[in-house]
Amino acid sequence: MEAVNGIKHIEKSYNENKLSHAFLVETNNCEKCLEDIKKIIKLINCKEKYVDNCEKCNLCYQIEKETLPNFQIIRPDGTTIKKEQIINLKEKMLTKPVYSKYNTYVILNSEKLNNSSSNTMLKFIEEPEDYLIGFFVVNNKENVIETIKSRCQLIHQYYNEEEIKIDDEKIETVKDYIKNIELDNKHIMLYNKNILMEKNYTREELIIIFQQIFKVYENVYINDEYENFEFLKDMNSVQLLNKMKIINKYLDNLQKNGNINLLLDSFVIEMGHVK
Ligand SMILES: [Zn+2]
Repeated sequence: MEAVNGIKHIEKSYNENKLSHAFLVETNNCEKCLEDIKKIIKLINCKEKYVDNCEKCNLCYQIEKETLPNFQIIRPDGTTIKKEQIINLKEKMLTKPVYSKYNTYVILNSEKLNNSSSNTMLKFIEEPEDYLIGFFVVNNKENVIETIKSRCQLIHQYYNEEEIKIDDEKIETVKDYIKNIELDNKHIMLYNKNILMEKNYTREELIIIFQQIFKVYENVYINDEYENFEFLKDMNSVQLLNKMKIINKYLDNLQKNGNINLLLDSFVIEMGHVK
């Protein structure tokens, strides 16, 4: 199945009566993503006409508070999601819903399903009942076993981590850096050394710059906004997504006190390898 951008597209398939029974949602923020999934779960179950923060019905209230028995959230128990958790989940999900239209479950950090819990899960999603809908939330879909992945509709849901305060000088650096990465990758290590490092940015400043770089690619990917970056038009969505993942990874690395020179060099090399 083809991947779609944004959980909000589920609303569309619901309105068109084409709702899948299992979704694999790849995101950079699982907890934030859960909040958005809850909105969808309210929408498809609400007995009133659902509007944001529906306060008319008890159902939406219970979904919000996570107290509805046929809406279950599974989080890793320690380092894995255990088989017993899935067996428990199955029991709750197989009774036909009475109050709500669907039984829904969310498995956060689905990459933590171990072999036996994956197998238990698998039997469960192979022939889903009409009233059953599941969301597998992950940071990286590659870490989910193929047999589960192949039964899910893939969704990408990326978030801007808080509004970034950035001055004009850094915005110019961002533009210049992306331009060099994309259009002059052969000389990009020289650019790191002779231009970027010469500016003597602190680690914190570089983090802000990387957040802004992420935002540029994300704007192209999600909103088709190319302003100042027309040369990114030639890139397909897989390439854009892969670059966003690389930027995210280096944002993490920058926060972990690695050697900045080395980080910047391996960053531009990885970016150059995305084809
Ligand atoms: Zn409602």
